[in-house]
Amino acid sequence: MNKHRKQQIFVNSNQTMNQHSKLPHVGDTIFSEMNAVASEVNAINLGQGFPDYQPDSELLDAVCQAIQRGPNQYAPMIGVAALRQAIAAKVLALQGHAYDAQQEITVTSGATEALSASILALVHPGDDVVLIDPAYDLYAPVVTLAGGKPVRVAMRPPDASRPGFRLDWEAIGNAIHEKTRLLILNFPHNPTGLTLSEADLDALEHIAAKKPFLILSDEAYEHIVFDGQAYFSPASRPMLAARCVLVSSFAKTLQITGWKIGYCCAPADISKEIRKVHQYLVFSVNTPLQQGIASFLGKTQAVQALAALYQRKRDRLVRGLSHTRLRPLPCAGTFFLLADASALGMDQEKRTAIRLAKEAGVATIPVSAFYADPDAPAANHQLLRFCFAKQDATLDAAIERLAKI
Ligand code: PMP
Ligand code: GLN
Repeated sequence: MNKHRKQQIFVNSNQTMNQHSKLPHVGDTIFSEMNAVASEVNAINLGQGFPDYQPDSELLDAVCQAIQRGPNQYAPMIGVAALRQAIAAKVLALQGHAYDAQQEITVTSGATEALSASILALVHPGDDVVLIDPAYDLYAPVVTLAGGKPVRVAMRPPDASRPGFRLDWEAIGNAIHEKTRLLILNFPHNPTGLTLSEADLDALEHIAAKKPFLILSDEAYEHIVFDGQAYFSPASRPMLAARCVLVSSFAKTLQITGWKIGYCCAPADISKEIRKVHQYLVFSVNTPLQQGIASFLGKTQAVQALAALYQRKRDRLVRGLSHTRLRPLPCAGTFFLLADASALGMDQEKRTAIRLAKEAGVATIPVSAFYADPDAPAANHQLLRFCFAKQDATLDAAIERLAKI
């Protein structure tokens, strides 16, 4: 075959792939994009959320021992029993709901797989799925893969009277109707740092009393809530727990984002459906990591100390930003802080983030990336997300650079 003909076939097949893409508008995630910018210009990376320090050495020892001792073969499809029991105890203590470790808890490959398996298992073609903007990037594409329709309800953005984002329960209630299969929640919230209150759960119960939708509650930052606030999960209300899939991850809790161990908890009939998908996505999850985490959870206080650790880091970043032209917003949980960059005088957040990385040497995430159309004016509030899960020295170096702009 001559070279020209070969190229022709390649071009045609590329066009066909684009025409038939199941996710035609999806490219690399903003996290990969900003990582690439950060490494290209050697910026301090406060973009993608990951700690720049080692996890607890006792956890590393526990995993090394588990690898040495074995088993190193397939784990049970639903997860190692000791880890499921440890998760049941942890969820009972924090969320206040007793899940059955055999029927209702499944260990997954990170919260990512738990969320994807849940959406694929529960959403039918034509179903509506309500998301709250700004929304974590995974939800809408996976809803689309399942044949569902993402219905996006915006939080109220900060304004002159209130410096932070606010939930609009009236708008959420109005978006939910008979065809709504799922409402996806994520509190503590990435990227706004918003947490739920008792009044939020009342509002949710009120809506749930009238409509039969399910709830997917992404609680990846469950242990990072500040200023002595209580933790409120939909799973803490029996009426909501009966229709809720609670998803979390050890990524943030044990500072091991690279291990990809998560889980989902749901009533047995819902778990049964999610497990059907989980078993064909990954079948089962890394055995010695599960064993190691289970034995570490049994003897550590590290999880309880997490909120205090990150509160100190949040406060360090807030203090540091007060010497810059960026204005921090309130942050009640997670390890992300939003800051207003309007003093830098640009309209598009992504352009601001790229310029900040290139000119000041600090990489962040534009909040507009968490909206359906990142270029739309309604998605651009001049806000950048800073990850403060970093060594104090990293935060100080970033602040020093930012003070010069
Ligand atoms: N949900 C949210 C809100 C997240 O920020 C993340 C990123 N850690 C995930 C899910 C994915 O978690 P994991 O890394 O355990 O897959
Ligand atoms: N959850 C991480 C964040 O929000 C990103 C994880 C990823 O890159 N998918 O920064």
